[in-house]
Amino acid sequence: MDHFTLRDGVLHCEDVPLPAIAAAVGTPVYVYSSATMVRHAHVFSQALASTGDPLIAFAVKANPNGAVLATLAREGLGADVVSIGEYRRAIAAGIPPERIVFSGVGKTADEMATALKGGLLQFNLESVVEAEMMSGVATDLGLTAPVAFRVNPDVDARTHKKISTGGALSKFGVPISDAREAYAAARALPNLAVQGVAVHIGSQLTDLAPLDAAFEKVGALIHELREDGHVIRFADLGGGLGVPYDRDVPLPPGPEEYGAMVTRITADWDVRLIFEPGRLIVANAGVLLSEVVRVKPGVGDPFVVVDAAMNDLMRPSLYDAYHAIDPVTPHGGKMKANVVGPVCESGDTFATGRRMGAVEAGDLVVFRTAGAYAATMASTYNSRPLTPEVMVAGDKFSVIRERQDIAVLIAADKLPEWLR
Ligand SMILES: *Cc1c(COP(=O)(O)O)cnc(C)c1O
Repeated sequence: MDHFTLRDGVLHCEDVPLPAIAAAVGTPVYVYSSATMVRHAHVFSQALASTGDPLIAFAVKANPNGAVLATLAREGLGADVVSIGEYRRAIAAGIPPERIVFSGVGKTADEMATALKGGLLQFNLESVVEAEMMSGVATDLGLTAPVAFRVNPDVDARTHKKISTGGALSKFGVPISDAREAYAAARALPNLAVQGVAVHIGSQLTDLAPLDAAFEKVGALIHELREDGHVIRFADLGGGLGVPYDRDVPLPPGPEEYGAMVTRITADWDVRLIFEPGRLIVANAGVLLSEVVRVKPGVGDPFVVVDAAMNDLMRPSLYDAYHAIDPVTPHGGKMKANVVGPVCESGDTFATGRRMGAVEAGDLVVFRTAGAYAATMASTYNSRPLTPEVMVAGDKFSVIRERQDIAVLIAADKLPEWLR
């Protein structure tokens, strides 16, 4: 459920009509509903409440805006970070270090040292060689690094291959068949406190079966590790739950079903559970608001050329992702169109042969479900400044990232002395 609804024929975010935001901030612009984020954080937490006192660590990469993080921090969420930049954003937004988990396949020694000095709940390590580097960094600092291994359970997540991470050949995690050896190796290293197990098999999962299979394997591993004498206090079950993008596709399993499955599988684990939801919390809390520049007739369907482009919202060109596209003030008519941006790439296509509410030049449209993996993936390709972001709360809205000034982009380039 989200808080983007038609009222008197005009699409609103909570109590704010979207044309008011377009008039004040211009387009394209990302618009987020804080009520939707808060609601999703609650629903997810509630669905897992019966597992004890889990840590819900928001996957910062889904939407790292400081206002988004601050909103979620107030709801008691922690952060799953994958770079020192994300770590610093989480701290800056008021997320306490003891609610931060550091994941990622390429943590550098500098990143390890900074996070270790600043404090965190756990590093999720992805290999024994990484554990060796971590041990060295911790020893140099005279600190102890709390660690888990991310294991790769070798299950097919049945999602898009670019967001599938738990197959045997993926770059992520320690193959679960090698896990006992990895834990034994880590135990022998100085200044590491091995405390948990982590798993994350992919994103936009629309079927619980692969998660179920992965968690069963993790449960068996925890049992074996304890037999080997390890003290396992945390199990991090990652993120990955899918959200509805396309109204014509059956709804993915919701947090309640997921919570019931997790509660059943983890009943006798005797650990504190950690979850790392990203998309589920923020995807439906955002839209990309854009204006139709013109409707260009085509040999086939017409092209609706909008002022947003692949550099603003990369998911369609990167993952063939589907975003529902709706007029902000629907006139009632329908059209079949190709919705494209102005960037000089054929890949700058948001939808092909899409049946949608009719629009004409000057109309506003929204790309729905654009709160996750959207603004954060933006680039300045075609010298298009980064898109601003706006957060709505009730009848108030606030610019939470300003539109980048093209002058700033130009000034960032430095001429070598011989061209001056
Ligand atoms: C991306 C990521 C997540 C979040 O995935 P969602 O599908 O957005 O829930 C969680 N954990 C790790 C390690 C990730 O890389």
